[in-house]
Amino acid sequence: MSSVVIVGSGGREHALADVCGRTAETVVVTPGNAGIPGSVDTPPTKLDADLFVIGPEVPLVDGLADELRAQGKHVFGPGADGAQLEGSKAWMKELLVAAGVPTANHGAFTDADEALAFLATMDDLFVIKTDGLAAGKGVLVTEDRAEAEATVREYLSGDAFGDAGSTVVIEEGLTGPEVSVFAICDGTKAVALAPAQDHKRAYDGDLGPNTGGMGAYTPVPVAGADLVDQVMNEAIEPTLAELRRRGIDYRGVLFAGLMMTPSGPKMLEYNVRFGDPETQVVLPRIESDLVELLSQAAAGNIISTPTFSDDAFVTVVCASEGYPTAPRTGDVIHGLAAARAIDGVSVYAAGVKRNDADELITGGGRVLNVVGRGTTIEEAKARAYAGVREISWPGMHYRTDIGKGSTT
Ligand code: AMP
Repeated sequence: MSSVVIVGSGGREHALADVCGRTAETVVVTPGNAGIPGSVDTPPTKLDADLFVIGPEVPLVDGLADELRAQGKHVFGPGADGAQLEGSKAWMKELLVAAGVPTANHGAFTDADEALAFLATMDDLFVIKTDGLAAGKGVLVTEDRAEAEATVREYLSGDAFGDAGSTVVIEEGLTGPEVSVFAICDGTKAVALAPAQDHKRAYDGDLGPNTGGMGAYTPVPVAGADLVDQVMNEAIEPTLAELRRRGIDYRGVLFAGLMMTPSGPKMLEYNVRFGDPETQVVLPRIESDLVELLSQAAAGNIISTPTFSDDAFVTVVCASEGYPTAPRTGDVIHGLAAARAIDGVSVYAAGVKRNDADELITGGGRVLNVVGRGTTIEEAKARAYAGVREISWPGMHYRTDIGKGSTT
């Protein structure tokens, strides 16, 4: 038995706490939120536990894992050096090339004239990215050359993203279904969790603006065991070796965002933490002891192999009115208990708060993650939507087509 501290405040952290709670004696989430049991205000540096798991990218990039390790704590999450994989797309792309990992051709620029000259050599589909963290924004995929040029100028002017946009990465556009693979790394070795697919666009049929993710599901028909083996052999292991060559001891998640192109899987990006909302479907599928696995990774010595249920999981994100542009908050949430009472349904709290009357209210854009479990995707989906239909607040919206094999 052991104690775990989870750092973060969203649906991902609720799922981490829930699944760690199957085997840990105590689980505390900091700062958590009003809907996650075990949430505390105490900062992680003032807490004690056998294992610390850091959820979001910002504290990782800012060096929280280093700070906790300096206090002698066991931490699952890379230090600031490894977190650059997410903190700088230019650095990540350079490392992918050095490690020989298949990825889109690219150039990284600080000078607008050079960037525009590179853009002029490309055709069809243009991808423009800010270098630094931009909270899921800062990526343009377009067939419109004029829009691509204007975006390069805008990012490099420093007006749009400040320092995060002072370097742009320009990539060839790839096409194909996207798949997320989470690898649990101990610095030298890695083991894969079950793949998932998320739905990034706000509205049904993959329409509307990009969001942090409106839903996810696992298993993914296009991502069988062969694909996972290939990703581990051709991407994750060479990446870990290249990190080590640079003196970086990477203990945490390598979240591979892949595109299944006609010429094979290519790495779009690495994230240095669990994905949100993919975590909400991937972790509940684990049948083995997650705390033991993450503790081994934190200690630099993975010896167990995770095992997964054959069941399917689907999560639907219930969002507030106006998300992702201008989410309205403060509305009272109804029906949570009724949703949770349905067999095979669980609900994770993402952006929620409590009002003076002690009622749960909306406190962010993505408010709740309703998760359905079933023997097939269809059954898991039906349960997730049965849960969603119990929940309501003014302006709540969600996609009705999660789990349909979306590609974007
Ligand atoms: P990223 O933050 O790098 O994952 O990019 C966000 C989204 O933009 C990805 O999930 C893809 O849907 C899309 N994207 C990124 N890079 C490319 C690319 N080279 N070709 C086509 N789409 C891309």
